[in-house]
Amino acid sequence: MNDQNQIFPIGEKLPADYFTGAASLYTLVPKDETGTFTAGSVTFEPGARTNWHTHPLGQILLVINGNGFYQEKGKSARAIAKGDVVIIPSHIEHWHGAAKDTAMTHIAITNIGEQGPADWLAPVSDADYLSVQ
Ligand code: MN
Repeated sequence: MNDQNQIFPIGEKLPADYFTGAASLYTLVPKDETGTFTAGSVTFEPGARTNWHTHPLGQILLVINGNGFYQEKGKSARAIAKGDVVIIPSHIEHWHGAAKDTAMTHIAITNIGEQGPADWLAPVSDADYLSVQ
């Protein structure tokens, strides 16, 4: 992707085990000696999204480019765009990703405790993903 609005490098491709489509991570703040959080810039190409997942200690998303969606299980999806902040409570099943025709980049700040940063669940089906567009 060659996007002059991109603030940080695209980074490394994320594993297909946990993501549908092309998503990449550029680590901004590695887990430090306190082990309490990590921060990274995550870029989703059009159509790309996370699997359903939870965070034992929550997560904050800061959208810095493009358009996408955030959805909690059992709730309507929320359209998100550059400048939006998403506060994800602990243990809430959710997914986030790009819109089907637009890339999206967010900074993810993820709290880390003894249970790690995330518990990964099933992929978001194409039917479920397309229904929120
Ligand atoms: Mn998340």
